Amino acid sequence: MSVTQSLTLDPDARTAENAMIFVDGAFVAAASGGTFPTVDPNTGKTIAQVPRADGTDVDRAVAAAKRVAVEWQFTDAIARAGLLRALAAKVTEHADELARLEALDSGHYLAKAQELVGAIPLWLDYWASLADKVGGRTIEVPGNKLSFTVLEPLGVTAHIVPWNYPLLILVRSCAPALALGNTCVVKPAEDTSLSALKFAELVSEAGFPDGVFNVVTGYGTEAGASLAAHPDVAGITFTGSTETGKAVTKLAADHIAQVNLELGGKSPTIVFPDADLDDAVEAAVQGFCSHTGQVCVAGTRLFVHADIRDEFLGKLTARLDSTQVGDGFADGTQMGPLVSQKQYDRVRSYIETGKTEGTLHYGGGRPAGAPDGGYFIEPTVFVDVGHDARIAREEIFGPVASVHSWSTEDELVEAVNDSIYGLFAVLLGRDITRLLSTARRLQVGGVMINDWFGELPMTPHGGHKQSGTGREEGLEAVHGYTQVKHVTVNLDGSLRAGTDWAGAPL
Ligand code: NDP
Repeated sequence: MSVTQSLTLDPDARTAENAMIFVDGAFVAAASGGTFPTVDPNTGKTIAQVPRADGTDVDRAVAAAKRVAVEWQFTDAIARAGLLRALAAKVTEHADELARLEALDSGHYLAKAQELVGAIPLWLDYWASLADKVGGRTIEVPGNKLSFTVLEPLGVTAHIVPWNYPLLILVRSCAPALALGNTCVVKPAEDTSLSALKFAELVSEAGFPDGVFNVVTGYGTEAGASLAAHPDVAGITFTGSTETGKAVTKLAADHIAQVNLELGGKSPTIVFPDADLDDAVEAAVQGFCSHTGQVCVAGTRLFVHADIRDEFLGKLTARLDSTQVGDGFADGTQMGPLVSQKQYDRVRSYIETGKTEGTLHYGGGRPAGAPDGGYFIEPTVFVDVGHDARIAREEIFGPVASVHSWSTEDELVEAVNDSIYGLFAVLLGRDITRLLSTARRLQVGGVMINDWFGELPMTPHGGHKQSGTGREEGLEAVHGYTQVKHVTVNLDGSLRAGTDWAGAPL
């Protein structure tokens, strides 16, 4: 496989050139020749023109992925693992460029983007290690028979990726898909396509066969919908909003594709009266300010025990005062911009709604000294907010939290579970029995006790209720990228006449 075109970044000018889609091992323009701009959210200025792929390009990418699917399925697992490890080495070699692209396109501050890209080989290595280890099981059936299952790949898998963690989310689903013998077609978010295109280059250099991995950039309603609707796509992993997840599921239903959904959340951070308050404040701030609140597990509902509410709020204010918001490439920045003008307008609109639903306790405006043109917003906290308020129920995807006080666990659990979402919860306190008793009653896919969320390749991530189906990461993710075949062998060597059909269950 040869790379015919390379995405080049000019870090000083903050621009990139030669963004091409990656189909069947080659970088090409979209069939229509169309492009759209992607912008630096720190400045609002255009970084690059990105190909606007449509159904024609999706057809080509899926055809390539289908053509090579059987060959890839029967490539020795150990060889697939070797390619994933080669890819991990390529990511490490190009980590700085990948991180700069990611920071520029998505608004992650540079140090965070470097941390994220630095972690990506862990996912590739985890799945490389499992490629030749996961399998089926033997089953005890009556008679002289051997019965067992084998896990087989789905075939062509689609990966529709959001803009908040563009490369990590791509890798966390494509790594298991590839390791377990599937081929991939990726549709990045239109706001953040660049790191996926650079990654495709590294896939190519690592030696993956043509067609095994493809990237089509474009709009969700064009390229994304065409991919989800494609009859040759056997599995779809979608990460993004619950609303779009429902639309994708409907498209998948028309051709019965398997769907993994990683959707929205409105996660609680719960502070018990015996918590270390400095730790609790740190977890709360990380929870709703990390990546400017654009995190599916963001802890945007702060449930603080009534006995410590005032002290907690005082410490929270002091901690937020010390949070440095600004250009992601400036030294010391801890919170960059929102990803786009659209997201900025959306978050601002929620802040205005919040002012009518509660009391603004902190922030709500544009940070002092933030660069002109960028989509910067202050960390924002509301108090005196009812559980029915829109800002307490809807996913805002910005650094906006509401504080709710509680007195009894029954009241707390009822309020936390009264949500269409059920993704994640953080609990802070010292009485482990009390913490675990509460954790058991929460309708969520993940709980972190006395810590903040740290995504890892080995722990299953996903949601209850409208936060999703299936799991990314961990051994549980195997089910999302495989299907079961059952085989039974009659060890008698022949089918005897006079089989007792009456004794058979069917
Ligand atoms: P979307 O759910 O709209 O987008 C996620 C991905 O789906 C993108 O690649 C998008 O493409 C694509 N897409 C959009 N429409 C379709 C479609 N009809 N068929 C197939 N694919 C489609 O999220 P947004 O980026 O618009 O963000 C909106 C909200 O989603 C956020 O405010 C937040 O609440 C939530 N969100 C949740 C995330 C999570 O991890 N749970 C992550 C990101 C967002 P395109 O970018 O071109 O629209």
